[in-house]
Amino acid sequence: MRSKKNLIKCPLVMVAVGAATISAPAMALDIFVCEPEWKAFLEAHAPDATIYSATTAKQDPHYVQARPSLIAKMRQADLAMCSGAELEVGWLPMLQARSSNAAVQNGTATMIYAADFVRMLDTHDHVDRSQGDIHAHGNPHVQFAANDMIPLSLAMTERLKMIDPDNAQSYQFQGMKFRAHWRNKLNEWNEKAAPLKGKQIVGYHETYRYLYDWLEMEQIADLEPKPGISPTTSHLQSLTKLNPDAFDAIVYSPHQDQRPANWLQQRTGKPVIELPLTVTDDETLDVMYDKVIDDLLRALAPSSEQS
Ligand SMILES: [Zn+2]
Repeated sequence: MRSKKNLIKCPLVMVAVGAATISAPAMALDIFVCEPEWKAFLEAHAPDATIYSATTAKQDPHYVQARPSLIAKMRQADLAMCSGAELEVGWLPMLQARSSNAAVQNGTATMIYAADFVRMLDTHDHVDRSQGDIHAHGNPHVQFAANDMIPLSLAMTERLKMIDPDNAQSYQFQGMKFRAHWRNKLNEWNEKAAPLKGKQIVGYHETYRYLYDWLEMEQIADLEPKPGISPTTSHLQSLTKLNPDAFDAIVYSPHQDQRPANWLQQRTGKPVIELPLTVTDDETLDVMYDKVIDDLLRALAPSSEQS
């Protein structure tokens, strides 16, 4: 086990502040996350922690180079959090192995995969290469599994309390605060997004599978011919044969190629929507959700969009 860093213990101060305050002295947990959305999630649960994200909002989290700076960050982590369900299978195992850090190895309480706390969609009993670069353990793009953020938050709170018991009270408070706020936002979003119910989308890689499931939307076709395979001319041609009434918009993410979406727009007249995949800069998770819902409403139900 690694020794705890920066741990300043002062019994007198602790007695003095005691139960009267929820902010204990900072132990400064060092946390490594694979995607920015989990940085935002953890910032809400452990505001004193130092959190490093391996990827930015512009990057495709499927494909990351396991460069030395990432290995160094992983080596010093007390805790790591990734989406899981094989999203990072192409690069995370190498980082874990090369970090030689016991805390970030699979099966430990300090290596947390969000997918383990989410009701997984699109699990497959059997996959082979003919199906493309498919995610066998279910769709790993779980950052929009809105309702599952509550059990994920509960689990995270318990882990943080276990890892850093001196600050258990603070984690308890922060977790409760996050969940109370999230429940309020869920009510707000459910009401606001009601006009999106039943809307049909041509998507790109099932990236928003959990979002659509939550908002009762549906992705009826994909710009990718197979998961992880870039759009081809023949596949795009086949999409122009879709009944124009069969879908309402074409959706892609900032890290994906916009040209296939524009190409289909020119032939169908349907709006193209670029949705965020994750948080940008210091955005909180709920702000990302606000943006996504506003972007969808603006394109699909302009009269109901309020902001
Ligand atoms: Zn994927």
